[in-house]
Amino acid sequence: VQQQLSDIDIAQSTELLPIQTIAQQLNLKADQYECYGRHKAKVSIDVLKDLQHQKPGHIVLVTSINPTASGEGKSTLTVGLGQALNKIGKNAVIALREPSLGPVMGMKGGAAGGGYSQILPMEDINLHFTGDLHAITSAHNLLAALIDNHIHQGNSLHIDPQRIVWKRVLDLNDRALRQMVIGLGGPANGTPREDGFDITVASEIMAILCLAMDLEDLKARLSRIVIAYSDNKEPITVKDLGAEGALTVLLKDAIHPNLVQTIEHTPAFVHGGPFANIAHGCSSLVATMMAAKLADYCVTEAGFGADLGAEKFLDIKMRTGDLKPSAVVIVATVRALKMHGGVAKSDLQKENLEALQQGVANLKKHMETISHYGLPYVIAINRFTTDTEAELAFLIDWCKANGARAELANVWEEGGQGGIALAEAVVAAIDQESNAFQPLYALHDSIEEKINQIVKKVYGGGRIEFSATAKKQLQAIAAHGWEHLPICIAKTQYSLSDDPTKVGRPEGFTIHIRELVPRIGAGFIVVMTGSILTMPGLPKQPATLNIGLNADGQVEGLF
Ligand code: ADP
Repeated sequence: VQQQLSDIDIAQSTELLPIQTIAQQLNLKADQYECYGRHKAKVSIDVLKDLQHQKPGHIVLVTSINPTASGEGKSTLTVGLGQALNKIGKNAVIALREPSLGPVMGMKGGAAGGGYSQILPMEDINLHFTGDLHAITSAHNLLAALIDNHIHQGNSLHIDPQRIVWKRVLDLNDRALRQMVIGLGGPANGTPREDGFDITVASEIMAILCLAMDLEDLKARLSRIVIAYSDNKEPITVKDLGAEGALTVLLKDAIHPNLVQTIEHTPAFVHGGPFANIAHGCSSLVATMMAAKLADYCVTEAGFGADLGAEKFLDIKMRTGDLKPSAVVIVATVRALKMHGGVAKSDLQKENLEALQQGVANLKKHMETISHYGLPYVIAINRFTTDTEAELAFLIDWCKANGARAELANVWEEGGQGGIALAEAVVAAIDQESNAFQPLYALHDSIEEKINQIVKKVYGGGRIEFSATAKKQLQAIAAHGWEHLPICIAKTQYSLSDDPTKVGRPEGFTIHIRELVPRIGAGFIVVMTGSILTMPGLPKQPATLNIGLNADGQVEGLF
């Protein structure tokens, strides 16, 4: 019966606790949080100062094999594991990304977990929530308006209108806005130039909000954003415009982590959600730090597979926060592994042990990657009703034969109860295995060396080829003194290589570096492989067409 209910049916039939009750569960005092209605609150970042001498709990990262069209269920697993840890008597808090309206209205696919492992109220979380994305959109576009106004008012900074690198943003999928000409209509209407929109989650301000340690750090990062280059190709920053104060004001509430609960009333922070390609793809650092200070276990996730999400979580986010994760959970499904073994999505219903045997090579690569970082890991097999007993038995045996801890997880169907074995395995891995966590590269390595480390050790690639543009940009980055920054590689999530059709475990491939984009405010250099869309389009049948409000004022059709 359970399987016939949609995510939203399950969500709407759950009786939520008042958010004050969840806050009290975390020992938060009334003046440490502010309620946004009955089931959401913002917890003040001052809590981090109040708890500065408290030892943080264990940080557990949930990542996965390379995603496929069959869906892996990372968010669902993250929520389910948090619930399961509480079920076995541990004190766990979840930290997840907040969804963007673009994909919610575009593709059907939950962004708040699924089945009996969801964060609630899912309608609010998936729609306007507490207004963080609005604040980011406003701050971003205020800056864009200030740039054009500066040029209009005489351009004393000598901004080259052809070298403005700050676009505009909107939190929707709208391909028609990707490229445009603005400032048309004569001298009173600004200077004509080419411009375009990105989706809000691609804004550098989103990445900044997710890496800032406090308001002061937020302001310092905002002031370092490079908005354009001058006539003589020198970088021009927000500080040059004098806008960091106003931008910080617009973000002063957005920086506080949002507190909600799961179906089983496990506390969950849902805060920030940068792209996992051109940005680092993790929820905010302050929310992770807060979860770790308030609980014994913080369960958090990173976008896409371990080659993108986990790498950036470990090399960028953990390093920025000077944090050490305790363990990693690698999510895999029989379905996705069969796709990595060459099976088409339409044939996934049929048992296929040969394909599974081929496909596990992808999982093997990610196990090796996590070992490169010196971290213990557990494989979570997210169980689907279509998996056959023989397939599940094969996968479990394969994991054991490869010396890995692996457990079946049925948290989608059963909630925390379906993740108890997984939770116990995670606790055992943390308690019993050694942890020699170290980022993959040193900050003082050259940009080429950083790329080389990731391509060789995380992707399993052979050669790296820089375009002529990228080579020139490497020189400019060194000249501007930005070489010490970590790197953030934008690559397809579907393959370990930069070719989305190469599933499984390709080897010896060449990674093509097209362009390097300095994100000095966020504090990393984006390395572009292939072309990455920063403003998605809507599909032929957008999810929007299923969404409506019923006579009782309840949202319908939202997953
Ligand atoms: P990811 O975080 O990897 O993108 P999600 O956790 O958001 O994946 O899950 C994607 C979709 O798949 C959701 O709609 C969720 O309800 C569904 N899902 C996840 N796990 C299962 C499962 N074991 N069985 C059936 N559906 C599932």
